[in-house]
Amino acid sequence: MKTLPLGVEPIVAPRIEFNESRSLIGLTHDEVAQKLREIGVPEKQCRMRAQQIWHWIYFRGAKSFDEMSNISKEMRVKLNEHFDVGRPEIIEALISKDGTRKWLMKFPDGQEVETVFIPEADRGTLCISSQVGCTLTCTFCHTGTQRLVRNLTPAEIVMQLLVARDFLEEWPSPSEGRLVSTIVLMGMGEPLYNFENVKKAMQIVMDDNGINLSRRRITLSTSGVVPEIYRCGEEMGVNLAISFHAVDDETRSKIMPINNKYPIAELLKALQNYAGIKNSRKITFEYILLKDVNDSDEAAHKLVKLIKDYKIPAKVNLIPFNPWPGSTFERPSKSRVAKFSDIIFSQGISAPIRTTRGEDILAACGQLKSESEKKRKYNKGL
Ligand code: SAH
Ligand code: SF4
Repeated sequence: MKTLPLGVEPIVAPRIEFNESRSLIGLTHDEVAQKLREIGVPEKQCRMRAQQIWHWIYFRGAKSFDEMSNISKEMRVKLNEHFDVGRPEIIEALISKDGTRKWLMKFPDGQEVETVFIPEADRGTLCISSQVGCTLTCTFCHTGTQRLVRNLTPAEIVMQLLVARDFLEEWPSPSEGRLVSTIVLMGMGEPLYNFENVKKAMQIVMDDNGINLSRRRITLSTSGVVPEIYRCGEEMGVNLAISFHAVDDETRSKIMPINNKYPIAELLKALQNYAGIKNSRKITFEYILLKDVNDSDEAAHKLVKLIKDYKIPAKVNLIPFNPWPGSTFERPSKSRVAKFSDIIFSQGISAPIRTTRGEDILAACGQLKSESEKKRKYNKGL
């Protein structure tokens, strides 16, 4: 993998415009077949052609119909007339000194999202966004301060993986030794507030005729949208991470307004019923450490007690707070973080401290916010 010293990756690929109304990306097999039917492809060919196109998009990473060599020339002309399989504009492609990468992409309506790739020794994790901005205003999160919010479409969610794979040159889809081996829905937005689109996008990336990513390699992180947690387990079957962050309702409501709607006891009950648990999978409790807010020894003990009282198979991920321009919280000292982790470990629950990655390119957890929003603020002198 090439690394560039200045942290900016040249965007060399010629771009074929992504246009949602013409794009065949983000559709199910049946929907692609239906699109073909609509442009007069004979009925008996629709399913087979849809399969071929699907394979080209998701297995080979084709960005144009011209690459689809087993499709006749006339058919390709016709496909080009009506549809495309191109990519959105990439505004920024950054590489951190630790190898983390971040891409900022812009969709035709001008909205932007960020996607982060974190390479590790034995795997590579792609952190995908589910919304532009976020309607929840957690006080420690940069995304939560973004005013513009909309749901991403299934195409826009899947596109983030396709773009990452383009840059990493990971086509055709390898069966093992993948660079992008894991997906986490931990970018911008609350995925359970965009349930249907996230579900469809995940079904596409799990499809074995294309990207073929196992549900065990996908983790959805939620701030705790209780009614959708059960559905998430039943209908998507992915791993669940919960942004827990505080052990009493008063503190949690202060930093995560969603706690007013779904307080801790309700949340823990929902986690008890999460379908993944039946398949012996653990729920990840994400716990951001904020100096003097939620980082005491008592909080660590209480966290263990809650997990045990509710009998939830859990692991804890400790995330020392990542600052962003204008944030008011502080990261606790290294020794405080280590003590917090030790208390949990000593009671039999794994609680690793997540090392912050890509800080120099503002790619760490909770630092994502669209570039245009940052510039708007800057121009207004905020
Ligand atoms: N909306 C979802 C998913 C996106 S946030 C959720 O809240 O779970 C991904 C993770 O980053 C969450 O656990 C979130 O609480 C955490 N996070 C947000 N801001 C952070 C910050 N400044 N420092 C460290 N982690 C942060
Ligand atoms: Fe939204 Fe998650 Fe950030 Fe809260 S932490 S504002 S839910 S993205």
